Amino acid sequence: MADTVSHRPLRHRRLAILVAALAVVTALACWGAYRWVEAGARAALTLNGDQRLGLYASSIRNAVGRYDYLPFLVARDHEVLDLLEAPSSPRRDAVNRRLETANAAAGSAALYVVDRAGLALASSNWADPVQSFVGQTYDFRPYFRQAVETGSGHYFGIGVTTGLPGFFLSHAVYLAERLIGVAVVKIDLEPIQRDWAAGGERVLVTDENGIVFLSSHAEWKYRALRPLPEAVTARLAQTRQYDRSGLPPLGLRDGPEMDGPEMENGTRLVSLPVYGPGPAPTRHTYLMQELTLPEFGWTIRFLSDLEPVKAEAAGAAMLTAMGILLLAAAGALGWQRRQTLRLQHEARVTLERRVEERTAELLTANRVLREAQEELVQAGKLAALGQMSAALAHEINQPLAAIRTFVASTRLLAEWGETAMVRDNLAMIGDLAERMSMLSGHLKEFARKGPARVEAVPVARAMDRALSLLVPRLREEEVRVEQAIPPDARVRGDAVRLEQVFVNLLRNAADAMAGCEDRRLTLTAIRNAEGWEIRIRDTGIGIAEAHQFQLFDPFFTTKEVGQGLGLGLSLSYGIVRDFGGMLRAENNADGGACFVIQLPDAQSPDTERGPR
Ligand code: ADP
Repeated sequence: MADTVSHRPLRHRRLAILVAALAVVTALACWGAYRWVEAGARAALTLNGDQRLGLYASSIRNAVGRYDYLPFLVARDHEVLDLLEAPSSPRRDAVNRRLETANAAAGSAALYVVDRAGLALASSNWADPVQSFVGQTYDFRPYFRQAVETGSGHYFGIGVTTGLPGFFLSHAVYLAERLIGVAVVKIDLEPIQRDWAAGGERVLVTDENGIVFLSSHAEWKYRALRPLPEAVTARLAQTRQYDRSGLPPLGLRDGPEMDGPEMENGTRLVSLPVYGPGPAPTRHTYLMQELTLPEFGWTIRFLSDLEPVKAEAAGAAMLTAMGILLLAAAGALGWQRRQTLRLQHEARVTLERRVEERTAELLTANRVLREAQEELVQAGKLAALGQMSAALAHEINQPLAAIRTFVASTRLLAEWGETAMVRDNLAMIGDLAERMSMLSGHLKEFARKGPARVEAVPVARAMDRALSLLVPRLREEEVRVEQAIPPDARVRGDAVRLEQVFVNLLRNAADAMAGCEDRRLTLTAIRNAEGWEIRIRDTGIGIAEAHQFQLFDPFFTTKEVGQGLGLGLSLSYGIVRDFGGMLRAENNADGGACFVIQLPDAQSPDTERGPR
């Protein structure tokens, strides 16, 4: 017990260390899982971004490439050449119609020709009274200048006439290597942006100045990625590229540039304001990837939302934590179960050993008891014999003394010749000798150990014999004996043993009355349904209530050491039961005890039954 108490703080400390270690391991594993999954998810995101960038680039190239033959074709048309060479109304009308037809067939936004001063001579939208390009001057537009200078040009801008954004492709018109004008096609890029917006992704295209002009999200358009230098603003005002829009900054903030095997140059984390329902925008972090389109001088930027990456990583961390805790719980359960099983096993083994020990002890005790009992029974018999021989000696002494006296007087009478008196004396001596031989015969019968015979025993005679053994004592102690046993009372049993029972009971009665005023023995036998009920009733001290149930136990005695062995009643009980009878004790209403022997009648049909 003291051992367990002294171990308790130690066990608590070990538990605390275990819990702390578990917490540290869980935290480390969570962190590792988070980083691992985050890196994987980010790599997947980057890969996807690269693919999307490629797709967006080709969608732009397709949209533009479909039309780049048109200005070249227009520049070869001889009616156009004629018009530019010598402008006249009929020629213009013809070219106008021609351009209108071609534009409709190609599906471009507008197709027109300007002279070498930048004045539009004919246009596909000539019939539109408001938006017709005819008569407008475009010499300030970069696509015009590029065509004049290099033979061809391209340019994105908002139309100064229509106010609609578009991509312009220009081609110089030569006649005999002399520049006479420029053919231009305007392409509407709104449809591809509508496709982008429908895709739900975030993509934007910037020009060489970093101004967003194409985007999946309309609110990002015509905004500068980063604040514009003065010179750029001035030049834009001059070319009216984005017409009159103020080009406010987008509000993009650069995060750290990403590195790693999958990360291309320029891949970085950025944050953008998101305009929600509230007045103040919230910032949102994206992974930004770029791809340049060198032929246009543009850059496509693709933004990936990082929230799913974070959520996935957090989920993995949670799962890891749960897994570890589950494992720990399972481990603890298993450990506890093993502990319980071990304890149960130990308890069972201990119990089994104890049972074995007890059984062995009981067996030994039982054997010892039996041996002791056998010895004591024999001792009891010997003691009874001893008492009996003392009684006999007492009994024989009197007739012996009498015989001695008679012999002396007879000798005198014979000398005197008193023959008649001598005969009388001799008769007396003969009587005395007879009585003595009777006593010794008794003793012989009592000591015999032979098997119980079953015979018809006259109760009165057995009682007389028992009394005759105790006569000296009863006489000495002045015990009155009242006997009322009918002569026809015959029971089934063994005469000698029944006498032994009577002797025991009578002696006990005499003992019980030793210190009493009134010493009376009442001996009766009454016939009843079961046979004969023999009662030995005394006026002694009676049986104490506490002893009622122990009386018949072997070795139960209230007598002083050396006085009684406590075997008398137990032996008597066994004998009576052997005869098929019962022995019980009760107290008389007027004091004293009464021992009741119930025995079967000798005449009862059970007579044939042998000894038990
Ligand atoms: P023992 O006579 O050697 O003590 P018994 O078995 O004959 O052994 O008797 C057991 C006990 O029963 C006696 O010690 C006594 O206390 C009680 N007992 C027996 N007979 C009587 C009686 N007639 N009156 C009172 N007590 C008795």
